[in-house]
Amino acid sequence: AKAAGRNQIKFFDPVMQDSLTARAALESELHVALKQEQFLLLYQPQTGRDGQVLGAEALVRWRHPQEGLISPAVFIPVAESTGQILTLGRWVLRTACEQLVAWQRSPAHAGLALSVNVSARQFHHPDFVSEVLTLLDETGAAPDRLTLELTESLFIDDLDNLVGKMKALKARGVRFSLDDFGTGYSSLSHLKRLPLDQLKIDQSFVRDLLVDPNDAAIVRTILALGKSLDLEVMAEGVETAQQREALVAHGCHLQQGYLHGYPGPADAVLEGQAGRR
Ligand code: C2E
Ligand code: CA
Ligand code: CA
Ligand code: CA
Repeated sequence: AKAAGRNQIKFFDPVMQDSLTARAALESELHVALKQEQFLLLYQPQTGRDGQVLGAEALVRWRHPQEGLISPAVFIPVAESTGQILTLGRWVLRTACEQLVAWQRSPAHAGLALSVNVSARQFHHPDFVSEVLTLLDETGAAPDRLTLELTESLFIDDLDNLVGKMKALKARGVRFSLDDFGTGYSSLSHLKRLPLDQLKIDQSFVRDLLVDPNDAAIVRTILALGKSLDLEVMAEGVETAQQREALVAHGCHLQQGYLHGYPGPADAVLEGQAGRR
């Protein structure tokens, strides 16, 4: 009776009631948003040696009719738990491929690559590989310019299945990056088995790189790991020139962060580079 009482209290907890209502509202608004395509992609530059722009990461935003631009941190988790991420993820991938094609046709942008975030639930869908391959055919996007950013949350599931799907896409030339590296669950044996191209050092380690010796050690370790496994290593969340220099001193030339450019419209991705010259 006591336990039931506790449950009851919890169930009628006004805070929880509110958040449930808010979530349900968000879910139904997302439903409308998906129908009306109230989304857009912003593109944040990714830079190489000497800061030249090599490509960009596509980052989704929800252009809400009343609320304005909504961060993916608000709606991606909801879309993941409702399954709406499948529809949203398809839209993101198609829009990104269309942008790649637009760049391929523009002399100034022709060499640019594009990284796209893929949720675990999306990647695990049985049709994911065939959908991406079809999309590449339909749009004419160059597969070797497309990098799919995966997170360690994928590894909770069947690794053989995961490796098989990655290999099927790699056979076409698609590249893979392991996002937020160092924050999740991945063992060295995972890293060895997965056909990855890139590790992305999580921004939490970059943030305190100059002040926290532990973070500096982690960054150095990830770079050494990348070297021995023959993987590119990209640092994200680079905000200051000091962070950029410290990373370069450790041999990390692939960088992304506000220092190099904010997420913005596709046409602006080369702007920082032009400004530097
Ligand atoms: P993420 O993949 O780790 O993306 C990097 C986030 O860091 C982005 O936040 C970006 O705007 C932000 N950022 C970039 N440079 C800096 C910097 O120098 N300092 C700081 N403090 N932050 C920086 P955003 O755009 O709000 O995206 C948040 C997360 O939402 C992403 O984290 C990603 O997990 C998810 N996401 C975004 N777009 C998509 C998408 O199309 N599909 C999926 N499944 N997830 C997405
Ligand atoms: Ca990412
Ligand atoms: Ca990240
Ligand atoms: Ca720290």
